Amino acid sequence: MDIGKNILELKKQLPETVSLVAVSKTKPNEDILAAYEVGQRIFGENKVQDLTRKYEELPKDIEWHFIGHPQTNKVKYIASFVGLIHGVDSLKLLKIIDKEAEKNQRKIRCLLQFHIARESTKFGLDEPEADGILSSDEFKDLKHVQVAGVMGMATYTDDHDQIRNEFRTLRNIFTSLKNKYFSDTNTFCEISMGMSDDYPIAVEEGSTMIRVGSKIFGERNY
Ligand SMILES: *Cc1c(COP(=O)(O)O)cnc(C)c1O
Repeated sequence: MDIGKNILELKKQLPETVSLVAVSKTKPNEDILAAYEVGQRIFGENKVQDLTRKYEELPKDIEWHFIGHPQTNKVKYIASFVGLIHGVDSLKLLKIIDKEAEKNQRKIRCLLQFHIARESTKFGLDEPEADGILSSDEFKDLKHVQVAGVMGMATYTDDHDQIRNEFRTLRNIFTSLKNKYFSDTNTFCEISMGMSDDYPIAVEEGSTMIRVGSKIFGERNY
């Protein structure tokens, strides 16, 4: 695997408006540094313990994203440095992130995760549930979380039309929420969609942020 080359190839294909999260979960520091060497600065992890260890061991100008659904009792370990949490799907979690962010005197950016895939195993909100959160007084009281957009995962399938439809659904949810709750601010701006197998479709459908792992670092051995 030539990690540096993979990053550069990917970047060449992406419009400037789309950022690349290099998903480094399960991968060693040396692989991350190979990506860092060619200029990659955003990395994504989905385990709190790995994220905190890598944060401590690797260069401090890396922007670390948590790309899953953090356990509520572990948010405190990443609250001082995490750049974006992609997988938020409840008011309860937002409140905990807010509390931990306040302790660190910062604001944490989060994305609401939506269930757009056909597989029932993938979790996330639907639009009415998001309405419930965003219109609540409890949400409006949170001063240390910033809901910066939406995130979703398409069904794992060869059916490109289906994948495209699911990404389109997510973009429509984004537009609808932006009009309803964030029309007077630029901070609600991210649509995190697209992984190794489906990022070209996601980019065509308006992704602003793709999360790519195996296409950069090779297959993962769990
Ligand atoms: C692992 C993971 C990715 C990257 O998956 P690849 O198929 O290896 O690109 C993206 N998003 C999330 C939420 C993940 O857990």
